[in-house]
Amino acid sequence: MQTEVVLAIGGNKGDRADFLQKAMDALSRQATLVGYSQIYETEAWGGVATSGNFLNQVVLIHTEMDPLVLLEVIQGIEEQLGRTREQHWGDRTIDIDILYFGDQVWDTPSLTIPHPYLAQRGFVLQPLAEILPKKIHPVLGKTSLELLAECTDQGQVSVWKQER
Ligand code: AMP
Repeated sequence: MQTEVVLAIGGNKGDRADFLQKAMDALSRQATLVGYSQIYETEAWGGVATSGNFLNQVVLIHTEMDPLVLLEVIQGIEEQLGRTREQHWGDRTIDIDILYFGDQVWDTPSLTIPHPYLAQRGFVLQPLAEILPKKIHPVLGKTSLELLAECTDQGQVSVWKQER
């Protein structure tokens, strides 16, 4: 059975847009890529990163994998793309998070779904509301648009335009 899965991808090191593209290419080899948001540029969150602003994007896939297998796959892609385990919230070439896995709710040591910070981060909610405005958070019972309207994250998030 295919499940609709929503992923957040982002990074602030190296050629940021190229890493996003490479992550999407890798995901599309392992699952069916159904859609993706525009790319958003975001101030680094959490006060640890030093390499500058992040680029973030939300990606929609269909997959037959179960959540733990998908987690392994995305960690493999992060490794392939040169992500090393650095400081939490620190600089990274690519981070891939599972935001939603259908309407499943998971609370285990290795996996929390929906992603625990989803409702607090403008850089997740803005691209999410762009592609899935009416998707209802299975725990909070609110749509992406409602969560975005209520979000108090002060970080600047804007649509990113490729420099030429
Ligand atoms: P991060 O530093 O954000 O890449 O955190 C990675 C760790 O978060 C991994 O060891 C995962 O086991 C754990 N994790 C828990 N929930 C999720 C989720 N929804 N998506 C991705 N990683 C998750």
